[in-house]
Amino acid sequence: MSAVLTARDLTRHYAISRGLFKPNAHVQALNGVSFELQAGKTLAVVGESGCGKSTLARALTLIEEPSSGSLQIAGQEVAGANKAQRKQLRRDVQMVFQNPYASLNPRQKVGDQLGEPLLINTSLSRLERREKVQAMMQQVGLRPEHYQRYPHMFSGGQRQRIALARAMMLQPKVLVADEPTSALDVSIQAQVLNLFMDLQEEFNTGYVFISHNLSVVRHVADDVLVMYLGRPVEMGPSEQIYQRPLHPYTQALLSATPTIHPDPSKPKIKISGELPNPLSPPSGCAFHQRCPHANERCQAEQPALRLLDARQVACHHVEWINS
Ligand code: SF4
Repeated sequence: MSAVLTARDLTRHYAISRGLFKPNAHVQALNGVSFELQAGKTLAVVGESGCGKSTLARALTLIEEPSSGSLQIAGQEVAGANKAQRKQLRRDVQMVFQNPYASLNPRQKVGDQLGEPLLINTSLSRLERREKVQAMMQQVGLRPEHYQRYPHMFSGGQRQRIALARAMMLQPKVLVADEPTSALDVSIQAQVLNLFMDLQEEFNTGYVFISHNLSVVRHVADDVLVMYLGRPVEMGPSEQIYQRPLHPYTQALLSATPTIHPDPSKPKIKISGELPNPLSPPSGCAFHQRCPHANERCQAEQPALRLLDARQVACHHVEWINS
């Protein structure tokens, strides 16, 4: 299998102005993120708002440069790529946003919007572009007459189908989807997720699927990356993480996910408090103020990711918590 996306120790830090004569503050929005995504597989990135998921999405889609670390798309290092290589990399990685309406041009017909990536990136004739667009429209469940319609004439679910069709027009190697179903009715979410999976099978695209909803991710992810305050805290195969989460934060996130048949033998784990201010992150383990197992070591020492039970976990006491 070939890796379509490789991240090594990615970081993204922002300088925040605190006014005249005061030194800038620094936010570490992303810290030490490493993973490998294979063609046709899905990595789900989960965590509360502010955990760095969207910053990671922007780095992966070349919207923002990482502050340090390495990012390779289909074997091509992004840093140092020349203009032509960057153009190709932008073709290879596409993005689907949370709000499909905001990502579509309200004044342009759907057929023209879908044809635009082909117009810019290929030398196809008008007729060939139209044929490709109509084939893709059919694939995402849109009818031929929708070609001439404007985005406001569609439902939320149909607009997300249009956004997905546009992202897939150039058959990218990687698709980054940032909360792609959270703005949709629950009844529509499953249909749109199924469409994502059908297109992945067809084009063998690697997906990075960003969501705060662990029940959504469960059905699409091969691997899961759990993030807290910009850092990975647990990462590994979806199966293992859902069966037996090891990090206290993952356990709490999963415990808060509603299920149809809750297991009465598993007590609910509640985490108190809010995500700390990233401008003044806590010392040691960033989760220690909310963790029921925290002790002095947690306050003083930041846990590194280490391999345990087929996944990586960042917690000093993971063995005795799960013994
Ligand atoms: Fe909790 Fe300590 Fe583990 Fe952090 S290192 S998750 S505070 S037990």
